[in-house]
Amino acid sequence: MGGRGGEACQGSAFYSCDPPWLGHRGGITFRVDLPVATRWSDPPAVRRNGTETVLQWVPGHAGLDGNKTADRLAGEATAGDQDSAPIDLSSARAAVTRHVRELSRQRATAAHPHPDPTPGHDSLARWGSVTLSQLRTGTSPLTRDTLHKIGPAANDECPACVEPDSAAHLLTDCPAYEAARRRRWGVDPRLVDVLGGPATKVVTFIEDVRRAEPPLDPPPP
Ligand SMILES: [Zn+2]
Repeated sequence: MGGRGGEACQGSAFYSCDPPWLGHRGGITFRVDLPVATRWSDPPAVRRNGTETVLQWVPGHAGLDGNKTADRLAGEATAGDQDSAPIDLSSARAAVTRHVRELSRQRATAAHPHPDPTPGHDSLARWGSVTLSQLRTGTSPLTRDTLHKIGPAANDECPACVEPDSAAHLLTDCPAYEAARRRRWGVDPRLVDVLGGPATKVVTFIEDVRRAEPPLDPPPP
């Protein structure tokens, strides 16, 4: 910050001679206004007739006089209770956007504990790619837990063994598919290994064990 009064305005790289002194520097936009009471409708000459405040970027933590004081004051200000501090609409929007993004990131992580992509996922045909994504996120209509959750299945029983069905049950636990599973992943594979291995193995397994269609309830007798 610096003061400058009464000189002929030269403008600078950071601000022009005309109010409201909009400036651009890198990604930062700032406005410099007069600390004395003026109105937007006042002519520029009136608005310039005071102490001009210039915002100037300076390197932080470089031992500059005043900067350390400003840093300390800013720290004290932000350490205070912020709950009742007024903020402008765009800051509020940005805060809400950040919050929502963080919530959905947490939800995705909770539903999807296998952050590593399944190798070959992107090379699969559309059906395989969608099926794999749904299995990874626990939202596949090929398992009865999903069908039960969204409505069309009366229960979540596995169509092959009547234990509770899920992506993990289908891929790693269901005893009815043991042979097809063992051929691909050996004895007792973990879900993280199945989904962390080649994507084509998952897709051919689903087809092999005839689970490529949603296992809907049998028609009433
Ligand atoms: Zn089963």
